[in-house]
Amino acid sequence: MELTGLSAALPTPADPSDHGFDACGRADGPADAFDALLAHLRATHVPFSVLWELTHTCNLDCIMCYNVPQAAPELTTAECLDILEQLAAAGVLRLTLTGGEILTRRDFFTIAERARDLGFALDLKTNATLLTPETADRLAGLDPVQVDISLLGATEATFDAVSGSRRTLSRVLRGVRLLQERGVRVKLNTLLLDLNVAERQQMLDLAQELGVYYEQVFKISAADDGAPRASQHQLTRPQITGLFLADGSPFVPQVRPMTSRTCQVGLSSCLISPYGEVFPCIELRVPAGHLRQQRFDEIWRGAPIFNELRDRHTLANLPECRVCPLNAYCEGRCAGLAWKEHGDPYGGHLLACQQAQARFAQVHPEAAIPETPLQAKNHSAAPVGRGETKRGVVSAIPLLVR
Ligand code: SF4
Ligand code: SF4
Repeated sequence: MELTGLSAALPTPADPSDHGFDACGRADGPADAFDALLAHLRATHVPFSVLWELTHTCNLDCIMCYNVPQAAPELTTAECLDILEQLAAAGVLRLTLTGGEILTRRDFFTIAERARDLGFALDLKTNATLLTPETADRLAGLDPVQVDISLLGATEATFDAVSGSRRTLSRVLRGVRLLQERGVRVKLNTLLLDLNVAERQQMLDLAQELGVYYEQVFKISAADDGAPRASQHQLTRPQITGLFLADGSPFVPQVRPMTSRTCQVGLSSCLISPYGEVFPCIELRVPAGHLRQQRFDEIWRGAPIFNELRDRHTLANLPECRVCPLNAYCEGRCAGLAWKEHGDPYGGHLLACQQAQARFAQVHPEAAIPETPLQAKNHSAAPVGRGETKRGVVSAIPLLVR
């Protein structure tokens, strides 16, 4: 398997997620017709892609889960069906349904089948442990573009240690096979932690053996309420550097214009929570509005946070990042993680700095690694390392490995 660039996909057919479908896409200019279409949708602020957390209930208890269930009731079936109509009317094309675990919602298929009838391109995220032949049949009937499933270890013991459950690996693999037998396109995703990084190659081999698309990431998201949930499991900078070197893919520093964006947050995608809240994205949970009080289109067009991000979220307005000596090596800055660390979506965040330093070390193995402005500012308060922050939040490195 060839490991190149920032994501790994097995086998080789083009992966639609490589086309910048998600808000994190860093493409600054159109490269082909599809990219040109996405650029147009972003420029005209069409809410092309919505990620919807249908529930925060889950049958697993993953160590790094960022969901924080609220006391408020989750959206009812009727509310969900009404929101689907609103999304369709607003121009949403790609709809990703996630949780929690989507299959813990008894009305999941009622919602998903209506979504399919409305013509959305459906992506589903499930842990796959609750799949049965019957639910796999019904899921295949939705004709999803892709089903994303987490692979958190190559052995039962490791997967169980991460997922807080029993026999998770065999249950996940059973679910994967049930979907594959029905022709559903499956993608496995691994969050590399100190607990499972030793099984990195075994997981790659397993994905290859299964013949599924596969991606490894380093991104530990802070919990929605800012709790330092998995800080002790974050990979260190030397570990990240080691993975870059082991990967062997060349990295080319990229000088970006001041008008460029580190991500596409707020332009053509957003997140809906199980309670009806609308946020710019899964990390940047600054409230934009509430679907129990406003219609989707009203929130999308009028929410101050969306309009501000559309107008201002460029490199020129990131005070630390624009003068950073490593900004040409920085591929992991995330506005949401900066916000979780410092309360400022226009800041940098320490683990993105570590990632940039790891890239610098990859390209210049003999050179001293520069300190970033953010690290200099935090030097005495938060030594570069595990991502402890002013808010006690662990940030994440949205770093994809192959
Ligand atoms: S803020 Fe972070 S999670 Fe949100 S779109 Fe940007 S990079 Fe992605
Ligand atoms: S390395 Fe840190 S300070 Fe520099 S551009 Fe990236 S996030 Fe900003």
